[in-house]
Amino acid sequence: MSDHNPVEGLHQVRAAIGRAATDYDRDPAGITLVAVSKTFPAEDIEPVLAAGQRVFGENYVQEAKAKWPALRERYPDVELHLIGPLQSNKAKEAVALFDAIHTLDRPSLAEALAKEIAKAGRAPRLLVQVNTGEEPQKGGVMPAEADAFIEECRTRHGLAIEGLMCIPPAEDPPSPHFALLGKIAKRHGLKTLSMGMSADFDEAIQLGATHVRVGSAIFGTRPKA
Ligand SMILES: *Cc1c(COP(=O)(O)O)cnc(C)c1O
Repeated sequence: MSDHNPVEGLHQVRAAIGRAATDYDRDPAGITLVAVSKTFPAEDIEPVLAAGQRVFGENYVQEAKAKWPALRERYPDVELHLIGPLQSNKAKEAVALFDAIHTLDRPSLAEALAKEIAKAGRAPRLLVQVNTGEEPQKGGVMPAEADAFIEECRTRHGLAIEGLMCIPPAEDPPSPHFALLGKIAKRHGLKTLSMGMSADFDEAIQLGATHVRVGSAIFGTRPKA
């Protein structure tokens, strides 16, 4: 048990986002805080909901399915974002559960999502994940392939792509990665940039983030998986 208070964490993060918006001349309304609640149980999430936070991020379909339907009954206006890797065989569940998916990164997944979206008559907002650090173990399309993949999603699969997401390598300064993501987005007229986590959301806001994904700064240190 930790004595970390998620509501205090939420208020601190919101204040820091507000300061960053002022510092970098951004409209705070253009920056959405995605509270990343992965690994934390409903009893840690509930007070954050009660404090008014409505946009949450989860990494795993199964975990989200176990935790969120009950919370959503009490907070129907919750917006749930999938920020972890998605297997094509979970596309159906993901389309049913999430309002946004940040991790579209390969043709087979684009095809699976297009099929499930057509069947469900419900379309989560879609972001293409770009592996800006070209790390082999990480999800995301390589930067050199991003242009072709975005086009393929649009023309071949008929998917509306809203924006891009990246997770810079832990050991790199994040800003060049955020700048690269912004540059690719601009080429395609994409308005949504999901970038910045607890350690680097300030830099991300400076470079145009519209969605910052913040977990530990709100909920505390995650237990090691
Ligand atoms: C876990 C996670 C986060 C949140 O990370 P923190 O450092 O705890 O803020 C953000 N984005 C993704 C993709 C994650 O997996």
